[in-house]
Amino acid sequence: MSQIVYVNGDYVAAEDAKVSVFDRGFLMADAVYEVTSVIGGKLVDFDGHATRLQRSMSELEMVSPVTMEDLLEIHRQLVARNDLDEGGIYLQITRGAPDSRDFVWPDPDEVKCGIVLFTFEKALVDSKVMDDGIKVISMDDIRWGRRDIKTTQLLYPSFAKMQAKKAGAADAWLVEDGFVTEGTANNAYIVKDGTIITRQLGNDILHGITRAAILRFAKEAQMQVEERPFTIEEAQAADEAFVTSATGFAQPVIDIDGATIGTGKPGSISKRLREIYTEEMTKAAI
Ligand code: PLP
Repeated sequence: MSQIVYVNGDYVAAEDAKVSVFDRGFLMADAVYEVTSVIGGKLVDFDGHATRLQRSMSELEMVSPVTMEDLLEIHRQLVARNDLDEGGIYLQITRGAPDSRDFVWPDPDEVKCGIVLFTFEKALVDSKVMDDGIKVISMDDIRWGRRDIKTTQLLYPSFAKMQAKKAGAADAWLVEDGFVTEGTANNAYIVKDGTIITRQLGNDILHGITRAAILRFAKEAQMQVEERPFTIEEAQAADEAFVTSATGFAQPVIDIDGATIGTGKPGSISKRLREIYTEEMTKAAI
């Protein structure tokens, strides 16, 4: 069976899907995106992702081509049409395809935003990474200053991930002015003496939907949370480290730039948070 994708109003087989060469998402990364995970055929935190999508669009003065109700229905249709049990849905909204390549944004009344969604399968709940943990390297954060907007300008994160791979690690933690901002596609945390430390929200990091849920669950479980920047040296001396993302949930980090974190095995707080997150989000999925 072919994979069914959604393109500008139609459900089509992936091999028949077409977007214009003038699409600004393609030409200029003038596009925003979301990735929502699916467990047991249900959407995890759809509202969180829809709210952040609307914020990303509004910061860039994009007018959504669909309502959020339509968007929920499209997500559900794609899950059903692709018989998706566990994995995710990628959604991208671009500023559309005017008839010329101009840096000036087209009039939204004349050029409608484009929209594309597709599903992917991925084991989320039972993941080997949880047993082993991942290694990360540090790299300068040279991305643009509006990382709170979830745009498709992903060349540098992709480059950083390749550098990590070449160094035998799974990811890179990005560092600006001496402090960790976040991972290439996740938010970064350390744990010291029972306190969970993660950078505070601002324009310099993506406001992770998983981050918000994890911090809520941590507080509900009476864990201490401190939202502040930390350095690589502080992270290397921490008891535990982990990252969060929609399709990774909470993943332990066991090595940073060659320094072993804690015992070198996933820490108990990271494990507990992953358990709570998986249980609660599975229950709340729609
Ligand atoms: N930070 C960056 C740069 C990301 O790209 C992502 C996810 O793609 C995250 C953090 C985690 O966000 P979320 O938990 O909403 O997936």
